Amino acid sequence: MPRAEHPFLSLVVPVFNEESSIDVFLATVAPIIARQECEHEILFVDDGSRDKTLPALRAAKTHNPSIAILSLSRNFGKEAAMTAGLDHARGDVVIPIDVDLQDPPELIAEFIARWRAGADIVYGARMSRASDGIVKRTSARYFYKLFNMMSPLQIPFDAGDYRLMDRRVVDEIKKLHERNRFMKGLMTWPGFRTERVEFERPQRAAGRTSWNYWKLWNFALDGITSFSTLPLRLWLYVGGIISLLSFLYAGFIIIHAFITGGDVPGYPSLMVAIMFFGGIQLFSIGLVGEYVGRIFNETKGRPIYIIDKIE
Ligand code: UDP
Ligand code: MG
Repeated sequence: MPRAEHPFLSLVVPVFNEESSIDVFLATVAPIIARQECEHEILFVDDGSRDKTLPALRAAKTHNPSIAILSLSRNFGKEAAMTAGLDHARGDVVIPIDVDLQDPPELIAEFIARWRAGADIVYGARMSRASDGIVKRTSARYFYKLFNMMSPLQIPFDAGDYRLMDRRVVDEIKKLHERNRFMKGLMTWPGFRTERVEFERPQRAAGRTSWNYWKLWNFALDGITSFSTLPLRLWLYVGGIISLLSFLYAGFIIIHAFITGGDVPGYPSLMVAIMFFGGIQLFSIGLVGEYVGRIFNETKGRPIYIIDKIE
């Protein structure tokens, strides 16, 4: 089916204590969207802001009818705010975008052009994160490496949340009912034709980031534990290897004791028993992990497959 020339466009903008960013954001984004000549909505999700974000949004809405405001009852975090936004967006194409202009709105034209040409997802790839500081950059890089090593689902290492998604991708994401929402994973999970557009990540335009390293660490844990059961199952292999080694060591100690009469009485048998049972215990924890991992995946109730097209 050929794509519409002028799709209905939804921008989903999660905001948390961003009173200083709203006006700059709208001043930059509005003309860019106007140039697309698409019907559109700018759906702000106020994630329980405690500053003047909500009044600022309401004020903006009085002279821009395409603004819609969704207010959460408290701060639920960006992942939850984006989920709320995707659930309520009406667009044929939906674009989650940060309010601080670190996701350059100029890319929207290219996103839509790629979508018209058939892409279902077009994500912005951050070529340089010079604006982010060395620690955040390095930890992010290793996080994505580790994630992709551990998870059967591969996520692009340089993508943020900034991307265009076709309506059917959004509809599939809405079927994922799990509570623990690592959106970068969930938005990648449905698959479909995915393309990338590269950009340099600029500095925040106004306000300051609400992330800190503790939050990022927990974010990383959420990501890995909701897409990988490897940490649970790892012990099966660690335990197996230790048990095997303890057998070999037992053989060595016994032969050694026969030949030399043993160094310290009781030591060989004690050592072998400790290692052997240590191994067996880890092995059985790993075995339980295999089952817990499966229960975990069942409880998420993700669809088993998604059909792209039937011809
Ligand atoms: N945000 C949110 N809820 C939160 C934290 C952040 O909705 O609890 C929003 C924030 O207002 C911004 C976006 O998520 O629009 C990205 O946040 P930020 O710029 O602080 O993250 P960074 O760019 O540093 O990763
Ligand atoms: Mg930012």
